Amino acid sequence: MSQHVMNTYSRLPVTFVKGEGVWLWDDKGEKYLDALSGIAVTGLGHSHPDFVKAISEQAATLMHVSNLYHIVEQEALADKLAEISGMDSVFFCNSGCEANEAQIKLARLYAHNKGIENPEIIVMEQSFHGRTLATLSATGSRKAQAGFEPLVSGFVRVPFDDVDAVKQVAARKNNVIAILVEPVQGEGGIQVPADMNGYMNALRQICDDNEWLLMIDEVQSGIARTGTWFAFQHTDVMPDTMALAKGLGSGVPIGACLAKGVAAEVLKPGKHGSTFGGNPFATKAGSTTLAIIEKQKLRENAQAMGDFIHQQLAAAFEGNDAIVNIRHAGLMIGVELDRPCAELVKLALDNKLLINVTADKVIRLLPPLVINQEEAQELVNRLATVVEHFIKSSLKAA
Ligand SMILES: *Cc1c(COP(=O)(O)O)cnc(C)c1O
Repeated sequence: MSQHVMNTYSRLPVTFVKGEGVWLWDDKGEKYLDALSGIAVTGLGHSHPDFVKAISEQAATLMHVSNLYHIVEQEALADKLAEISGMDSVFFCNSGCEANEAQIKLARLYAHNKGIENPEIIVMEQSFHGRTLATLSATGSRKAQAGFEPLVSGFVRVPFDDVDAVKQVAARKNNVIAILVEPVQGEGGIQVPADMNGYMNALRQICDDNEWLLMIDEVQSGIARTGTWFAFQHTDVMPDTMALAKGLGSGVPIGACLAKGVAAEVLKPGKHGSTFGGNPFATKAGSTTLAIIEKQKLRENAQAMGDFIHQQLAAAFEGNDAIVNIRHAGLMIGVELDRPCAELVKLALDNKLLINVTADKVIRLLPPLVINQEEAQELVNRLATVVEHFIKSSLKAA
């Protein structure tokens, strides 16, 4: 093992060398069921043949040119994203945190243009927006922030899914310019608002009443993950801006900040940029991902398989007091236990299943959008075995 990779991750003792569909193989030839998709990235499954063909051809044709020039692949992806989202314009970058940085900078410039000094953005508890300084400051996790002070100022935090808390800030402050929210919180433990449409409508109304921007982070929940192109499409609300990344490039790094109406007019030449952002290779990967999702009806599949997995998990864990709650929006699935369960990740790995635990007590499942019913059943069987063993051998938290 190389000593030259910086020690920023505690890695599991496994090395994957090959993937196909929902399956991964390690360097010893062992086969694993991937219920994490590289954290909501490989929605098409591994090594999708149409995707491999499209990006291979693009690499052989044109990999990169600067944004000093027109880029046809970038324009095609912008057009497609506008069509499926109803948004007006797209800024391309390379990751989720950068997409959120673009939203934050856009909001600040919007405030500046309105003559508001020291503008603030309302953000949520247990939110996750990335690891750059501004997005870390927006993130609702003291653990992630600790040691990186001074943080970027200009954020006001309120509890998630709490409209009154937002109204109180609106009544108290006159320098707020935007709300930044994940419609479904991912890192926070797959938190789905009790009434997503009601919550988003209330936030929209407050934004309209105060001329704030409604900015949503769909880095994890977007790109068909919850059964619609974007989670906000489960509601009848339109955001002003939206951040995307993760599933958009199927593993090729790409992020996007979409904007609508007045928000789409804020950034002007010279105000923001990215060397790699929107290059022919990455945007071809994005367009191909969206085309395959459409062709294979993966939104419909994400909804159906998400419902199926939830149902099967509920049946498998029926009467098990250690299971507090099972939540899902399409193929964003969370199983909350009554005790810390980080150990489950290694136990599942030993049983050839890749899962994640977030928010200390929540098993997070983000299987590829292409998962079929047989594979979904296998996922449930493997997980149920591991969880039952874990619960018997661990103690309930005091
Ligand atoms: C993963 C994630 C990010 C950060 O994306 P990176 O590509 O790691 O910078 C931001 N927001 C949400 C909701 C995420 O899940």
